Amino acid sequence: MYIDTHAHLNFDPFIRDPQPYIDRALQAGVTRMIVPAADLASSEKAVALAERYEGVFAAVGVHPQDAAAVPDNYLSLLASMLDHPKVCAVGEVGLDYYRRYAPRDVQMRVFREQAELARSLGYPLIIHNREADDDTFSLLEDLAYFNVQFHCFGGDAAYARNVIERGALVSFTGVITFSQKAREVARTLPPEKLMIETDCPWMAPVPYRGKPNEPAYVVEVAAAFAEIFGRSVEDIAALTTATAERFFRLSQT
Ligand SMILES: [Zn+2]
Repeated sequence: MYIDTHAHLNFDPFIRDPQPYIDRALQAGVTRMIVPAADLASSEKAVALAERYEGVFAAVGVHPQDAAAVPDNYLSLLASMLDHPKVCAVGEVGLDYYRRYAPRDVQMRVFREQAELARSLGYPLIIHNREADDDTFSLLEDLAYFNVQFHCFGGDAAYARNVIERGALVSFTGVITFSQKAREVARTLPPEKLMIETDCPWMAPVPYRGKPNEPAYVVEVAAAFAEIFGRSVEDIAALTTATAERFFRLSQT
C-alpha cells in the first residue's frame, strides 16, 4: 500500500471527474492520497474531495503564488477548515523566489502566519520551497517548528540533513526517476525520513514523461527509492506509508 502525499486532485484535469484517477490509484495499491491546496478555493475543493472519497485527505493553506491575494480573515477560514476530521495538515505554504509570485516580505508574512497557525493548533505543515532555502530555514528555526514536510525536495544533501536533524521530513516526486542529482541527494538520507509523492498533474515520472501525472504513478517513486537503497519495493512502500501515517496522523491500515 502506498500513500501519495501530494496529489492535486483539486486541480484540472482531475477535479472535473476524479473517479477514474482514484480507481486507477486504488488498482495500483495507492490507497490514500493527500490533496494539498494553493488558496482558499482549492482548500475548499480539497475538503470536499476528502468528504467524498474514503482514501482522500485534505491539506488547507495558501501557496506563495497567492500570498498577495489573501483576504484579512483567511487565517480564521483556514482554522475552521482544519476542524474537519479529514483535514490533516496546513499546506502547501512557503516561499518561491524562483517565480517571484509576490514580494518577498508578503510571502514571508503569509508563510509565517500559516506556520504559526499550524504550530498553535498542532498540525503538520507541507512546505513549498523554491530557491528560498535560507529564508525557509530561518523562519522555521525562529518558530522552532519543524513538524514539516519539505515537498518536492530539490535542495542539496547538506540542507536535507540539516532540516532532518531538526525533525523535518523530506518528500520526493517522480523527478527522482530521472534526475541523477535528486538520486544522489536521496542516497545520503535516512530512508525512514522520506516520503513519496507525485505532485500530480506535474512531475510525471519515467516512463510517463511528457504525459499528465496521476496518483497511481507514485509507485514509480517508490521503485526508484527501492533501487537507490537496495531494498524491495514492498519494504519501501511499508516504510514510507508508516512515515506518512505518523506525520499526517492517519490511522494505520
Ligand atoms: Zn503542490
